[in-house]
Amino acid sequence: MTENLFKNTIQYLEKAAQALNLDERNLENFKKPKCVLKFLLNIKMDNGKSKIFCAYRVQHNNDLGPFKGGIRFHPVVNLEEMKALSLMMTLKNAIVDIPFGGAKGGVKVDPLKFSKKELENLSRAYVRTFYKYIGPKKDIPGPDINTNPQIMAWMVDEYSKINGKKVLASFTGKPLELGGLKERDSATAQGGVYVLEGVLKRIKRRRKNLQVAIQGFGNVGSNVAKILYKKGYKIIALSDARGGIKITQKEGFNPFKVEECLKAKGLIANCYCAGNVCEVPNKQQVITNQELLQLPVDILIPAAIENQINKGNTREIKAKIILELANGPTTAEADEILNQRNILVIPDILANSGGVVISYFEWLQNINNEYWSGKEVLKKLNQIMTKALNEAYKLSEKRQTDLRTAVYILALQRLSVN
Ligand code: NAD
Repeated sequence: MTENLFKNTIQYLEKAAQALNLDERNLENFKKPKCVLKFLLNIKMDNGKSKIFCAYRVQHNNDLGPFKGGIRFHPVVNLEEMKALSLMMTLKNAIVDIPFGGAKGGVKVDPLKFSKKELENLSRAYVRTFYKYIGPKKDIPGPDINTNPQIMAWMVDEYSKINGKKVLASFTGKPLELGGLKERDSATAQGGVYVLEGVLKRIKRRRKNLQVAIQGFGNVGSNVAKILYKKGYKIIALSDARGGIKITQKEGFNPFKVEECLKAKGLIANCYCAGNVCEVPNKQQVITNQELLQLPVDILIPAAIENQINKGNTREIKAKIILELANGPTTAEADEILNQRNILVIPDILANSGGVVISYFEWLQNINNEYWSGKEVLKKLNQIMTKALNEAYKLSEKRQTDLRTAVYILALQRLSVN
């Protein structure tokens, strides 16, 4: 999966490089990481025996500031994936103009088979092994797939023990009581909404009653649904991996009620919640994920997985704007077709970068020994996301390119790849 994501990123990067007339050798050099670290971790298991796991940290680029990127625990973690993801982190940070570079780490392991104690042993071992290479001014890891605030808490504790004093700024994504940041959970969705509203302002569309379809109702999808609902957008379709629902009445979905219903019933397709009432949907109200993507809406938000908008379905897409909150929801081939059809795509690398911005805030808060209020966090997030959008939008007008190409050009310029 990451392979496709990386392939698309490289294609977009090369398109931007071409527009900038970049020297090919410079671009090839830029793609390579500055440092690749691979160690074996020896972990004590609950049965008293030890097991060995392969662990990585790839540091791609620190021209703009310390390396920054998550650590994932997953059975398919591998070096190529780490390299690709670290490059993508460099680009994301550059786009939102954050003084961080890009990195990624991981352990090839199935953490779902681990007890809590074994997970703690693994997390602490990772820090002991990579200690020399990480730190608040060198490389700041954060959570990623299968790593969470509890794991970050163990990691900070281990780092602090070796260091001899508490170093909260060594990791981000920590629990609130350990220097974590308020509003973190909804930051990606909230950042996406700031960018969307910046676009609407530029194209002079009023938000009220704009019709929205959202694919995926996890962290990002449910949060964006709630934020948009509160602002007066009309949510007309929602889905999860098992299927979706579409509205057949005047009133839109109430995502707060859908969320409550989902907890009880487990499936979006059982939660037709318009207004305050939840019912089991009828046949006309149940849709597939493919049907959701093809609805005639103002705004389509893919917030689930990769490659959902592809060569096979692009011509059926009827949305006017696509806000890519998932990573890589559109293939490069599909992207060309969307551009030809004048569908405005707000690219993932900008739209979902609220998460990286919030990590920077957490680091800043810890470095300066401050505690930011939720209001402060959102105000600053809005400023950064809107500034990035405005810069990319202006660039796209100046160079007569789509927004995605403009965003990649912006990153290459900031990183002085020329
Ligand atoms: P999540 O696991 O919380 O939710 C994913 C949702 O997508 C679930 O509702 C799931 O049922 C649905 N889904 C899974 N497979 C599907 C399929 N085949 N068709 C339709 N729906 C499907 O994940 P998340 O954290 O909300 O992340 C969603 C996307 O956003 C991912 O692409 C992720 O990489 C990207 N993203 C997330 C963050 C973040 O802060 N969580 C930041 C940047 C990017």
